[in-house]
Amino acid sequence: MSGNGLPGPPRVEFRFLLSQVWGEPRDLKLSAEEMDARRDERVRAIVRFAYGSVPWYARAMRERGLVPADVEVAADLARLPVVEHGDLSSDGKAFLPRDADPERFLALPTSGSTMIPRTIYYDDEALVAGWAVKLRERAAREWHMRGDTRRYRSAILTLEGGPTRIRDRFRETVPAVWKLAPEELQISVFEDCEQVIEELREWRPRFLAGYGSAIGRLFRYLAATGADMPLPEVVSFGSDSLATEERRIVEEEFGIPVLGIYGSTEAMAIGFECGRGEGYHVHDDVTVVRIVDAAGRAVTPGESGSVLVSNLVNRGTVLLNARLGDIATPIEGPCPCGRSLPRIRLLEGRHAAWIEREGPLPLHQYHLFRRLKSLGISRWQVVHSSPSDFLVRIIPAVGQERERLDPAVRAAMADLVGPGAGITVEFPADLERSPNGKVLTYIRRDP
Ligand SMILES: [Zn+2]
Repeated sequence: MSGNGLPGPPRVEFRFLLSQVWGEPRDLKLSAEEMDARRDERVRAIVRFAYGSVPWYARAMRERGLVPADVEVAADLARLPVVEHGDLSSDGKAFLPRDADPERFLALPTSGSTMIPRTIYYDDEALVAGWAVKLRERAAREWHMRGDTRRYRSAILTLEGGPTRIRDRFRETVPAVWKLAPEELQISVFEDCEQVIEELREWRPRFLAGYGSAIGRLFRYLAATGADMPLPEVVSFGSDSLATEERRIVEEEFGIPVLGIYGSTEAMAIGFECGRGEGYHVHDDVTVVRIVDAAGRAVTPGESGSVLVSNLVNRGTVLLNARLGDIATPIEGPCPCGRSLPRIRLLEGRHAAWIEREGPLPLHQYHLFRRLKSLGISRWQVVHSSPSDFLVRIIPAVGQERERLDPAVRAAMADLVGPGAGITVEFPADLERSPNGKVLTYIRRDP
């Protein structure tokens, strides 16, 4: 057993990283059966580790009368309990290996729509594995690029913080591999559009990545003002969402392929869009995704359910069956790109939770988003400040009149949250960002 907070360089995962860097990534090389076999090997190893060294799982498994031999393949993870946000924020230490020294780990803070802070600890092997599978994103985007892709410039709209710290740690851990990374310019998501465009004009990146909200805002601005900028050949987004209307602008008005990246602080790399088949490929040899209904049963392709992730490599904060709050649907059948990784369709309502309101039925953010989306709005943000008070901030699409939108938004909200609710509609120039730079579509402010 390695990577358990003990000194020494990464071992197993380093080989894995190399296998991704040279030649075809193995999701293109190995069959689905071979990939499954590797995944299940890791499932058995992490469950043995969790049972033997991590108090929360040792207790949960004993309570259920389970031993490691009861979890043989990924589907058996269903026998373990679901880790809810509250478990992690109230008892985070119980998810760390006994006697582990957190100083040895990279600590990443996370906060969802409720802004309850939690810290996830990563060991070096997990970071290397996370990077190794992220090289698949690189192969996927370079398929969409023209000409030589051995060296090119890229830019990222991001934030000083988590992602940068992961990069710095990675650079220290495996400097040789780091040198292969594209030259990258970082621009803060808090920078205004004029400044971003000026920096991109100078740098001329062929690939632009970043927070969905920042990519969306930039291209909305370009479309609205006609400002001139050398366009990247491919765009990718993650961290927060790119609204449907914004994605349409990038893809249709600017003709640039858009690839989504699905990650979270809880699991690091989860999946990516290849842009050739529908949905996101899941890195399931490193992060197993299970999609379950309200009773915890796996849903069938076409049905949607709640996303649970299991990180198979991290021996810092060990998370198996952790609920992210996202809603997704499994996709059946092979992808035209030939990758052997399974696919899911990710529905809007990231970082989501059930919305508490006065009324008989619970309301998921997804229902709220679907309703607002049907109005054709560019982007919105709902601030929920008490069980019956909602503030809706709206960025209209080009040509939409506020006078018409205002009553339509009010009517849609009243229909969803009940006629007794207090609903305020605002049209600000920009939307609020959380301390970690994200534009959340739903913010719950506890009174
Ligand atoms: Zn594909």
